[in-house]
Amino acid sequence: MKKFTEASSAELKTMLRELQERYDAFCAQNLKLNMARGKPAPSQLDLSAPLMDKMNAYTLEDGTDARNYGILEGIPECRRLFGETLGIAPEQIIIGGNSSLNVMFDTLSFLCLFGTHGSMPWHYHKYSGHPVKFLCPVPGYDRHFKICEELGIEMIPVPLLDDGPDIEMVKKLAGEDPYIKGIWCVPLHSNPQGVCYSDPVVEQLASMETAAEDFRIFWDNAYGIHHIYEEVPLKNILDACSHFHNPDRAYYFFSTSKISFPGAGIALTASSLDNIKELKKHMSAQTIGHDKLNQLRHVQFFKSKENLKHHMELLAKQLRPKFDAVLDKLESNLEGSGLAKWSHPKGGYFVSLDTMPGCAKRTVELAKQAGVIMTEAGATYPYGKDPLDSNIRIAPTYPTLGELEQAIDIFTVCIQIAGIEKLLNSKGE
Ligand code: PMP
Repeated sequence: MKKFTEASSAELKTMLRELQERYDAFCAQNLKLNMARGKPAPSQLDLSAPLMDKMNAYTLEDGTDARNYGILEGIPECRRLFGETLGIAPEQIIIGGNSSLNVMFDTLSFLCLFGTHGSMPWHYHKYSGHPVKFLCPVPGYDRHFKICEELGIEMIPVPLLDDGPDIEMVKKLAGEDPYIKGIWCVPLHSNPQGVCYSDPVVEQLASMETAAEDFRIFWDNAYGIHHIYEEVPLKNILDACSHFHNPDRAYYFFSTSKISFPGAGIALTASSLDNIKELKKHMSAQTIGHDKLNQLRHVQFFKSKENLKHHMELLAKQLRPKFDAVLDKLESNLEGSGLAKWSHPKGGYFVSLDTMPGCAKRTVELAKQAGVIMTEAGATYPYGKDPLDSNIRIAPTYPTLGELEQAIDIFTVCIQIAGIEKLLNSKGE
């Protein structure tokens, strides 16, 4: 394909007319295709349907009746199952409720309200005129940014590179400013690009000097076992922090939202034993305990780390053709055009696409008018502000293969229209 950026104004105008005709034909079909959020398709959920079958027992391995109150930190067999799966000691794990985002919000709220291990509550700084700040690798997950916004934590974008956040920038910023109290990390198959953190990046995050003594890494390993094309290893952040004498630095989050059922799975947090003790103290005022029956259902269904791995392979088998379809279509419709570049994730839930600067909002708007709903442009940046207006998140999991192919055809026409409009505009046409 000829680079659009090298085409003459006359050539661009001809292309635009042809594209506009195709676009109008799409609009006339009154389509309703949604690729806005990373939701599993019904066929993925069906794989976990036996979870809802009658439970085979309510008694835990230590004889406790799971139907009754108690066990704040979660049932031992569930802590063990996910401990083995993630390589974390069960004592370092608390099984929470149905959403890891909820646990992240609570953890950050606790820090704002109470500080940690004797440090000043973070909101003390906020109300003394020094709002606490978080480093936010970008593009990133909009709901992390929303938590910060809601709690009045200022966000500082840091570029996410191929092997993790720009670590030199992270070290410089966190090393100099005592009000920078933390960083968001999605260390495997990040949302949206699918970036996987390298060992040196994990080690530097764990070992770096920080101006704030209570600097915290929010390690959201949401896609920790969600490999689609290739299993990618990840260095254990909790062990690394402990090794570098910063044992309390990281909170690790995980959930089965994209393993069993989003909104009806189980979430967990893991950290140093001291942090776990502190979290449990706060939690004990919040709840008598989370849903042990759901925890037990998950243990009865998955049973072992090996079965969980097998389940993830079945999910990957369903997702591979969808990711293939998106990547193939992007390549055949846009490769060489100079109008966009996109990520090639090895797992996770998304493909990240960058249009030419200044074209993302227009592209998403055009797609919406043609019946294809994408994640809002800008959502992958703090405060919804993408400085280049170029990043768009593609969520291929929910639509059927046929819908997906149609949606990407429309989407790529929109990218081309927005791109040509921009090019003509820059030529003063
Ligand atoms: N973290 C990341 C990076 C995610 O992409 C998502 C889901 N889109 C979540 C957390 C939400 O997890 P949960 O359902 O456990 O709240």
